[in-house]
Amino acid sequence: MIATLLFLFLSWAGSDGMAQEPAGGKAPAVSKRPPVVLSEQALRLHHQALLVDGHNDLPWQIRSRAGGRVEALDIRRPRPRLHTDMERLRAGGIGAQFWSAFAPVSHPQPVVAFQEQIDLIRRMCAFYPEFELALTAADIRRIRREGKIAGLIGVEGGHAIGNSLGVLRNLYALGARYMTLTHSANLDWADSATDEPKLGGLSPFGEDVVRTMNRLGMLVDISHVSAETMADVLKVAQAPVIASHSSAFALAPHPRNVPDSILAQLPQNGGVIMVNFYTGYLVGEVVQALEEVKKVRRELRQRYPEEEEFRAQFAAWRAANPVESGTVHHVVDHIDHIAKVAGIDHVGLGSDFDGISQLPRQLQDVSMFPYITQEMLNRGYSETDIGKVLGLNLLRALEQAEQVASSLTEAAK
Ligand SMILES: [Zn+2]
Repeated sequence: MIATLLFLFLSWAGSDGMAQEPAGGKAPAVSKRPPVVLSEQALRLHHQALLVDGHNDLPWQIRSRAGGRVEALDIRRPRPRLHTDMERLRAGGIGAQFWSAFAPVSHPQPVVAFQEQIDLIRRMCAFYPEFELALTAADIRRIRREGKIAGLIGVEGGHAIGNSLGVLRNLYALGARYMTLTHSANLDWADSATDEPKLGGLSPFGEDVVRTMNRLGMLVDISHVSAETMADVLKVAQAPVIASHSSAFALAPHPRNVPDSILAQLPQNGGVIMVNFYTGYLVGEVVQALEEVKKVRRELRQRYPEEEEFRAQFAAWRAANPVESGTVHHVVDHIDHIAKVAGIDHVGLGSDFDGISQLPRQLQDVSMFPYITQEMLNRGYSETDIGKVLGLNLLRALEQAEQVASSLTEAAK
């Protein structure tokens, strides 16, 4: 099996998926764009703006590398093996970060695991004086004014609620401010983008989940769900939706991305698509190659149960089979596309740092956000529009969701 995959991958990659640009070969022309050079103007604008990132998986790294002990993975020390540490968060100008509370769909006790990850994020926000947990858009503004980084809780996957609206309401009470409806597999009430379609969207209970989230003021996150589920959500939602970490399907045809038919509905809904930095969702030419990498990774993990041996084998395989990584230009291409189809009020950033394995050049860690600001300036975006993409669009969506919640609560009295 491995041999077949290797052969398939090698023969495919040999055609146009290699990372190194073969002499006279046809590596994607986009990779030849020159590196972005930071200017004083971009740095000033970037650090004055409010940057909100939709998705960072540091909490999962703390669970898997340090058994959930926040202090054991102190990010006030440099953490070169991670994408995230305090110094680089500061250099990147992060004003507010949605920390992902995540547990895999295969977890035997997902509801418990999600509770533990929410607890971990709350402990993390309390442990560092540089952080503070934010529960509202007003909190984000205040915490940012006080020079701290606002931390928000984003629940990644509706398997967190165990088919219970009571558990969903408790997640809100614990501070969760978005929930991604599915992760990589279908639920009883919603189809995932990366599973065989079963319901063709949302079930009636799934619609209740969306309505309940609107009543609570928790953002409905359409990352990871199928295009049919996205369409069903937009039929039911009374508040803006977000995609906390998804890119544009038109540029990179991966089912995790958002198709133009959904982008076109955003002006009416008020929602925000927060662009994911994973190369496999950004660079159309390598979507398939990176899916093959994932397959080979799974195969090698089965074949080499010993972690160190697996890592060595996989690293050797990756070194022998490089894939074009893309650049910060690709992220701005997705911003351009979403702005063109949905409008500038409906684009944001959702890096997925510490949750992904391959990143574009000049966006390899949380310190590199200013390159996006620079490249948007280079492409002629106004300072006002850049501020929207960096964070104000998300803030507006959250404020609207809060208003919808209070009006629905009033109406119910
Ligand atoms: Zn994800």
